[in-house]
Amino acid sequence: MRFTFSEEEETFRAEVREFLEDYRDLEGFILQGRKFAEIKKLFLAMGARGWLAIGWPKQFGGLEKPPSYEYILWDEMAYARAARNPLSAGIVAKSIIRYGSAAQKSEWLDPIRSGDLHFSLGYSEPEAGSDLAALRCRADAHGDGYRINGQKCWQSYAHDMDYLWLLARTGTQESRGRGLSLFIVDLKARGVTVNPLPLMDGDQLNEIFFDDVDVGQDQRVGAENGAWSIMGEALADERHIQFPPGRIRRDLEEVTAWLRERGLLDDPVLVHRLADLVVESLEVEMHGLRVLDCMQKKRPAIVEAATNKIAHTNACAAIAQTAMEFGAGEAMIEGSRPDVLWRASLWEPIGGGTSEVMRSLVARRGLGLAGKT
Ligand SMILES: Cc1cc2nc3c(=O)[nH]c(=O)nc-3n(C[C@H](O)[C@H](O)[C@H](O)COP(=O)(O)OP(=O)(O)OC[C@H]3O[C@@H](n4cnc5c(N)ncnc54)[C@H](O)[C@@H]3O)c2cc1C
Repeated sequence: MRFTFSEEEETFRAEVREFLEDYRDLEGFILQGRKFAEIKKLFLAMGARGWLAIGWPKQFGGLEKPPSYEYILWDEMAYARAARNPLSAGIVAKSIIRYGSAAQKSEWLDPIRSGDLHFSLGYSEPEAGSDLAALRCRADAHGDGYRINGQKCWQSYAHDMDYLWLLARTGTQESRGRGLSLFIVDLKARGVTVNPLPLMDGDQLNEIFFDDVDVGQDQRVGAENGAWSIMGEALADERHIQFPPGRIRRDLEEVTAWLRERGLLDDPVLVHRLADLVVESLEVEMHGLRVLDCMQKKRPAIVEAATNKIAHTNACAAIAQTAMEFGAGEAMIEGSRPDVLWRASLWEPIGGGTSEVMRSLVARRGLGLAGKT
């Protein structure tokens, strides 16, 4: 495994840092759902440089750079607290590149690459989160296309996005993952209702209702009932950028500075705690590089990505808790830096697969332990 980056990669990192000077502290990494108008300008500027398609094949307008470039880009974005990676340029576009028709490629890829068109992911439902294959939102054959009815919940950014990347049931309920298909749905279409679900850190998720929403055949991506493998591949593509260590580096720097400014670093117990957190953040860095290493070698990173997510979200919580514990009353004031980080650290272990589900993956796939979970 490589622990360093090449000269060319470091040059790219320097270029990204310089670019981010204008977008530093946009707060999009934590509050993306409340700041999209500003964040979209950043995505358009990235699109103009080709960075939203940095890993896409050249034939689709991408720069075809190896995964290390995406890793560096989103690591620096996280450190700068600029924004999270847009789901459109990653999960959606990469699935269209693999499974979309020629017409879908020519319709969707260009505006996604430029940063103009954005998607939310419509997977989870009230009774189907960890157990996604239980989902009930249906797309039934109707006329030349499909008619969608049902509900989704917890959709990030859906209130600001143009389209939904919808996972819906086209087979029987018993067919579980083998009866699901993927659709592109206009979030402004008749019959679609998007309601806010406020998060306790001031950000927002959404619930979405579908009431006889008609979509054409050309809005289904990939085979009918064939969504499960498409989703698996798309997720695998994104593993090295989903939980970048730059976020943890920045959290720790900010919390240490906040505690120092208040003269709290004379406390030896706190200093020891911070030293432990430095060690933990270096471990997170190593987990991130392990995932990248798999991606570079085109090996599955299931266990590595799960351990990375656990380590990342544990560190996130430990840093925020240290600030709350030692920063006493001031840390608890709503909107203080520790308060914002602490509230965000509570939902990090849930989105993108819960810590319990990640631990089960590590146990089964990493340690070979049998079990039902
Ligand atoms: C910030 C955030 C952003 C999100 N963004 C999106 C989005 O954009 N699009 C989208 O579709 N969804 C999104 N989600 C939803 C997310 O994917 C689900 O919340 C997650 O998969 C967990 O599902 P659930 O909430 O239904 O909890 P459940 O699956 O009901 O889990 C409840 C509890 O049971 C535990 N549990 C469940 N199954 C097992 C098991 N097999 N073994 C051990 N423990 C288990 C869980 O770990 C958890 O503690 C987001 C969630 C959050 C918090």
